[in-house]
Amino acid sequence: MELTTCVILFPSWVLQRPWPEVVGLIALPYVYIAYQRFHHRRKNELFRVVSENAADLIALVDVTGKRLYNSPAYEKVLGYSPKELAATGSLEQVHPEDRERVIEAARQAGLTGIGRRLEYRMRHKDGTWRTLESTASAIRNRKGQVTQLAIVNRDITERKRIEEQLEHNAFHDVLTDLPNRRLFLDRLQHAMDHARRHPEFKFSVLFVDVHGLKIFNETMGHSVVDQLIIDISKRLRSRLRHDDTVSRSAATGGRPIAYETLARMDGDQFTVLLEDLKGPTDSMRVAMRIQESLAEPFTARDVDVFASASIGIALSLPSYHQPEEMLRDADIAMCRAKAQSTSGREVFDTQMHAFVVKRLKLETELRKAIEREEFRVFYQPIVRLATGQIAGVEALVRWWRNESELVGPMAFIEVAEETGLMLPISRWVQREACRQARAWHLLFHTDPPLTMTINVSPREFAQSNLVANVKSDLDETKVDPRSVQLEITETMAMSDPNLTIRICSQLKDMGVRLSIDDFGTGHSSLSRLHSLPADVLKIDRSFIGGIEHDGESREIAHLIITLAHHLSLEVVAEGIETRSQLTYLEQFGCDFGQGYLFSRPVDHAALENLLAAASCDPAGSPVKGLP
Ligand code: C2E
Ligand code: MG
Ligand code: MG
Repeated sequence: MELTTCVILFPSWVLQRPWPEVVGLIALPYVYIAYQRFHHRRKNELFRVVSENAADLIALVDVTGKRLYNSPAYEKVLGYSPKELAATGSLEQVHPEDRERVIEAARQAGLTGIGRRLEYRMRHKDGTWRTLESTASAIRNRKGQVTQLAIVNRDITERKRIEEQLEHNAFHDVLTDLPNRRLFLDRLQHAMDHARRHPEFKFSVLFVDVHGLKIFNETMGHSVVDQLIIDISKRLRSRLRHDDTVSRSAATGGRPIAYETLARMDGDQFTVLLEDLKGPTDSMRVAMRIQESLAEPFTARDVDVFASASIGIALSLPSYHQPEEMLRDADIAMCRAKAQSTSGREVFDTQMHAFVVKRLKLETELRKAIEREEFRVFYQPIVRLATGQIAGVEALVRWWRNESELVGPMAFIEVAEETGLMLPISRWVQREACRQARAWHLLFHTDPPLTMTINVSPREFAQSNLVANVKSDLDETKVDPRSVQLEITETMAMSDPNLTIRICSQLKDMGVRLSIDDFGTGHSSLSRLHSLPADVLKIDRSFIGGIEHDGESREIAHLIITLAHHLSLEVVAEGIETRSQLTYLEQFGCDFGQGYLFSRPVDHAALENLLAAASCDPAGSPVKGLP
């Protein structure tokens, strides 16, 4: 109620009332107005206290956007004094790209009473941009018309920075700040999608493997290698830039290749995505330039470091559906380049493709074979040359493929090793061989008991559970550990001598014997052998094959036997095929022989017959009875 209305109503009935009542009535509107004003002041006071102390930026603007009030937080956050703000329009400091959205949010607030949450940028007085999060509420007059907007802004610049950093980290390599594998695959996917819509668009992936840094890891430590990797990435990045001649093609009249992404995959491996290629040689040329740029020395702790690179190239093909496929092929081509090419560059081709497909097929088949239990163990006799008696056997795996074809390990062992499938296969062979050894010990009471030689796969050897596995096989099958002989190749034994000694000692503690397989093919010296707790040395069959006609092989075989005896090792000659080879080995004092001359690897039933024949006739020698 307003005062004027009260005064107009007054004369009609008031004069008839007693005067104190009249005075009271007259005073009432004034009291009411005084109360209203007091209340309004309290409200304003409250608004002032809240807004002036709040960290949030609080603003009042009229419907035209004119600033009516800005809380002191504006000065703290954006650097402008109230005077400076008052002299400018409310949109003036808003980022030009965000103005449209701010106007729209204000319009929404006017229509609905409350605007949606909005993120926008405001310019600080120092010229930098701050990100604010705001909501606007409409203030209406008595007639319900929106006259003002109250806007509450929060400074979220720091939060945004952290969010952006996290987002960046998810797609970039921390060390070099290059795109990581994830971002690379994402860009590759985009290139593939684009090529699907525009068949003339050509692109390629270069897989770059930098050599020569591992040595520095060992000698100079990780931090030096990290710095080298940063330097390499910087050089690659600068040489790959569009405006650099690296990506300019003579064939395209010096026009640069349009886009490229350099990424770090892992360790010293980088990838490059070249897009919009103009000619078929573009990728090869970029690969050459990468190699050239790496050939210039890097400096680490005042020492010149020379790096080199093998590069595999995969060119875009419509048959690629997943970015991973193309990356994989570039990786395969890189491996080829590393192993075979003199230039250190290879383009992935259909032959390589066929090779990969074959391997993938084999891998699938091997997995199925494990499930279907298609593996068998064959046994090849190891003969004591002095007596001609079978002293032991070597367990050799065979794959009874689809129950129709017997496949030897050379056809699948490489793929099985690479894919880790050799682990379950080898585990099964070990258990089966131990079980069979125990069964033969119960059947044939030879003294000493028949030795069962079992091959250990490199991967199994490198994994710490070999010792536990062997122990469980021994416990489970109750085979005498002294009759179990585990074979590791010379290469395995020498790759990490400390690990070898540790594992071999643990195995020896269990009572099993150890032999070094394929001796002479690795790069070890006999002098290093003494540090290994081995019992037996097997001379590789490549020397035995040459014994008859090649004087050098003969001498090496002789030398190995003599020195091995010096180190108290027994010697087995592998791959004896002829009587003449046998005669030489007997002359050299070789202890045991294994080879087709005595027997090919045979199944357990055939071997049992051989053992039975020898045990029935104590003078009988299986050697005599065999081809
Ligand atoms: P290895 O351990 O050196 O086994 C000896 C290989 O020489 C066997 O080949 C055997 O059949 C062959 N051999 C024996 N005598 C003669 C001969 O007089 N002339 C010729 N030309 N060859 C002879 P195999 O069975 O094909 O095995 C090849 C390799 O596969 C083995 O070499 C061994 O390293 C590996 N391997 C076999 N079975 C297993 C297994 O169960 N586990 C693991 N981890 N590796 C195995
Ligand atoms: Mg062997
Ligand atoms: Mg061997």
